Amino acid sequence: MTKTTTKTKSHARRRRSGPDDPQRERPDRHRARKRFGQHFLESAWVDKLVGALQASPTDTFIEIGPGQGALTLALAPHVARVVAVEIDRDLAAALPRRVPPNVEIVLGDFLRTDFDQLLRDLELPVRVVGNLPYNVASPILFRLLHAAQHGRRFRDATLMLQKEVADRLCAAPGMAGYGAMAIQVGLLADVDRLLTLPPGAFRPPPKVTSAVVQLRFREPRAEVGDHQVFEDLVRSLFLQRRKTLANALRPLADARHKIASQVLDLAGLDPIRRPETLTIEDMARLARAVL
Ligand code: SAM
Repeated sequence: MTKTTTKTKSHARRRRSGPDDPQRERPDRHRARKRFGQHFLESAWVDKLVGALQASPTDTFIEIGPGQGALTLALAPHVARVVAVEIDRDLAAALPRRVPPNVEIVLGDFLRTDFDQLLRDLELPVRVVGNLPYNVASPILFRLLHAAQHGRRFRDATLMLQKEVADRLCAAPGMAGYGAMAIQVGLLADVDRLLTLPPGAFRPPPKVTSAVVQLRFREPRAEVGDHQVFEDLVRSLFLQRRKTLANALRPLADARHKIASQVLDLAGLDPIRRPETLTIEDMARLARAVL
């Protein structure tokens, strides 16, 4: 057995597996678990995804949900290190004996993983990759976004998402799907779509089309003032995306004891515009004006 690390974590355990490990299981016997969003990538698409990553031998990757190791095994020879966080005990137990020494398997829920501990021994910034379980893709995305610290911890994240979610991430002002997600992600990262995959790219096939997007974290595109107010503003405006700004802003302005028309004037925004036409910079000015 090549693995040497056994480290106990608050919500995640790095484990070593050996021939006597009762949790070892033959990966080919594994039955995909719906509750963990398990759809395993077919090898032709694994190669495309690895190609799209343009990995270099000095890169360290965090992989979210290695599953049966399809992506892990293909990526490992091209990079310095892979630390892969898997929630499914059986899969996490089976992987260590199949992976090369530069791969470490962490048993745990990525949504609860302590990033300070996970990243402690790693060369920063790390890169992130994951064929995400679609039931928790959005919370994982936002967790990464909040933790990226402008690219100092995570350089980029290449994520397999449901195509509709990828469309929303990449949408520009005025486009269908443009909303809170595009603004919050676009504030902190540049986003590119790398691949689009049919259901048949996975085993078992999901009911939806998938897409791979890459988020490259960077300094915020605009100064938003208070981050919580910015998030509240974006969410509240897009709940009323078809209303004029004057009407859509009123609930939040009232709650902050401000007059919507004065706030819009201060932000230099026309009150008859619709929220769906605002750029990130417009939203940031509005968030500062409503403070
Ligand atoms: N990477 C593998 C592949 O491409 O074939 C598996 C991808 S499958 C869509 C998602 C994987 O994430 C599964 O192995 C699942 O058990 C794991 N997973 C689900 N929820 C997770 C979580 N909260 N934290 C870590 N892994 C999770």
